[in-house]
Amino acid sequence: MKVSAENIHLSYGAREILKGVSIESSGHSFVGLIGPNGSGKSTLLKCIYRILKPDAGQVFLDDQELLSMSVRSSARKMAVVAQHNYYNFDFRVREVVLMGRAPHKKALERDNAEDYRIADEALKTVGMLEFADRSFSTLSGGEQQRVILARALAQQTPCLILDEPTNHLDVTHQLQLLKIVKNLDVTVISAFHDLNIAAMFCDRIYVLQKGEIVGCGTPEEVLTPELIRKIYNVEAEIAHDSSGQLHVLFRA
Ligand code: ADP
Ligand code: MG
Repeated sequence: MKVSAENIHLSYGAREILKGVSIESSGHSFVGLIGPNGSGKSTLLKCIYRILKPDAGQVFLDDQELLSMSVRSSARKMAVVAQHNYYNFDFRVREVVLMGRAPHKKALERDNAEDYRIADEALKTVGMLEFADRSFSTLSGGEQQRVILARALAQQTPCLILDEPTNHLDVTHQLQLLKIVKNLDVTVISAFHDLNIAAMFCDRIYVLQKGEIVGCGTPEEVLTPELIRKIYNVEAEIAHDSSGQLHVLFRA
């Protein structure tokens, strides 16, 4: 599966937020999107997951143009874990995860035993099965986020779009959630604000600044002191740990 956004333009009123952005991910690639607050990461992802319609440019799932597809068929290909807001919906956790099965069902078709099995399997994967009968609104932000990932897993799509999926999670659950995603055989595009987390999991990283892609490559290629100074206006050193993993060290 390949997801690509080509030459996306989007303005809010007179303000141009995305100025001709192209990104793609295919096969089993984990692609990251970094950039300062307000650079347009969420806006770009919203164009990809169909919440916003670009003023110009197109999104493709494989070779099909997104807006030419039914919502149901794009939802069979692409699942989303959006930037976390405190959700206040009054459903049980299992019901929230079962919503991920909707694109696979006919209108008004009831959830069957297979749907329940898939939902519980997804809850087990994110370590939330014991919460299945809890009211979703009583969960902590991090627990809610893991349930929302379970809903995306239950959707069984070949492509996952994530917007800062590990906000609100402690380090254990940050790594757990991203390891789960990394081990899936899916195409991933994910926004990150933590450069070290991005470096740990991404095969490739795009850098967005003021609505334009200003860098793209492997973490080693992209995360340099020069780029970090240019984008974030902070001084940083790059180090490697004993396993060879890159880390960004910020200087005060
Ligand atoms: P990021 O996710 O990189 O932090 P966003 O895509 O959320 O950035 O936002 C990009 C810019 O668009 C920001 O300046 C933000 O204030 C602005 N913006 C986002 N949503 C809206 C909206 N609905 N109306 C007007 N401006 C918006
Ligand atoms: Mg954002």
